[in-house]
Amino acid sequence: MADQETFRREIAGWLEQYCPATMRSPYRGEEEWVWGGKQATFWCDDARLWLQRMVARGLVAPAWPREFGGAGFSAEHASILDEEMKRLGCREPVRSLGLWMLGPVLLKFGSDEQKRAHLPPIARGEIRWCQGYSEPGAGSDLASLQTRAVLDGSEYVVNGQKVWTSYADKADWMFCLVRTDPHAAKHAGISFLLIDMATPGVTTRPIKLISGRSPFCETFFSDVRVPAQNLVGKSGDGWTIAKSLLEHERALMSRARDQNADEEGQLDDLARQYVGVSDGRILDAVLRDRITQINMDLLCNRLTMKRSAETVAAGWGSGPESSMFKYYGTELGKRRRELMVEIAGFRGLGWEDAEFSQRELSLTRNWLRSRASSIEGGTSEIQLNIIAKRVLGLPD
Ligand SMILES: Cc1cc2nc3c(=O)[nH]c(=O)nc-3n(C[C@H](O)[C@H](O)[C@H](O)COP(=O)(O)OP(=O)(O)OC[C@H]3O[C@@H](n4cnc5c(N)ncnc54)[C@H](O)[C@@H]3O)c2cc1C
Repeated sequence: MADQETFRREIAGWLEQYCPATMRSPYRGEEEWVWGGKQATFWCDDARLWLQRMVARGLVAPAWPREFGGAGFSAEHASILDEEMKRLGCREPVRSLGLWMLGPVLLKFGSDEQKRAHLPPIARGEIRWCQGYSEPGAGSDLASLQTRAVLDGSEYVVNGQKVWTSYADKADWMFCLVRTDPHAAKHAGISFLLIDMATPGVTTRPIKLISGRSPFCETFFSDVRVPAQNLVGKSGDGWTIAKSLLEHERALMSRARDQNADEEGQLDDLARQYVGVSDGRILDAVLRDRITQINMDLLCNRLTMKRSAETVAAGWGSGPESSMFKYYGTELGKRRRELMVEIAGFRGLGWEDAEFSQRELSLTRNWLRSRASSIEGGTSEIQLNIIAKRVLGLPD
């Protein structure tokens, strides 16, 4: 493997040559996200081309082994690629729960057959996954889940309901927590099952959000027959696997919030535009203080995440610390969005009116969307409980 500086130069050169200019501009809205999957849509030809080029070099999943569609990079080289993509403003070629959450878990707990079947299509952006964890009676108390899977010959028969399943109506497959042993202790009776959403008996119903979007669904299972080989790990291993996946999800969410801060622009610029400037300084002194505080908090959070990523790259593994970043990153994101709306005044409260610019309309929608960030992936209160118990080692 090339030394880090040579590698950085080479990968930056490749990105500069092959990442189309449109894929190096900030997103103008969620419609420009590429999710892949069988129902994939590309908002422009460059988006498709960018995915194809990244796939051809295994760069969609750079740290995965080549045999599973990755580039076989070390953790250090994968993070250099990430840094160079950020520096050059390259967009992610595809957004994918398969890539962010399921892939790392399959690499750790999956059988060889499961890795061969599922990882390469994820690395090519061909299959879109959704997460079937929450149920009407099992959110924070996830281990109370009741969706049943009963072994019948070589198949599990699944019955029950999931809720808040993001993009279930667009996903091809679901990684799902099911109860395989109703008599075992709550956490011990859970298993981790992969379900093809096209299987007869799976139905989804979209739920509309306050932001006007419908990013998630209720999902129903009625006598859904799932091959037993789709069980990851052993029957009853589900809780351990689920927790491992959540650590990846939480680490991802803190990174995503951080990235949003760059894409949505600087608070200072917004204040200059809406509040005004005198002698080169934002007019309102209290606002100046608040902006500086948030900028400092963002920087500290970013540096702490970088330090933690280096610990992971050094082979120390990620752990419950991801709850710390999830908690802090999402709460900080909410404070920042709140301040953005305040700065813009009534112009930050537009909904659909032609009088508001596209950027102003996004202020409102992003502010509303940010309220969900401290709920999804486990609420802030639950993260505080985990930090207290598993990071600080405090007694129950
Ligand atoms: C945008 C969005 C996308 C989502 N996507 C998915 C998805 O794709 N797949 C999926 O499976 N789920 C998804 N979820 C569901 C999410 O994981 C749950 O909403 C979350 O875990 C909270 O569960 P709940 O909604 O049942 O709230 P509850 O568990 O009922 O909690 C209600 C309130 O009580 C508090 N509380 C509960 N227990 C405790 C405790 N022990 N100590 C202190 N406070 C407590 C909570 O913090 C919260 O404020 C999504 C949620 C959102 C908002």
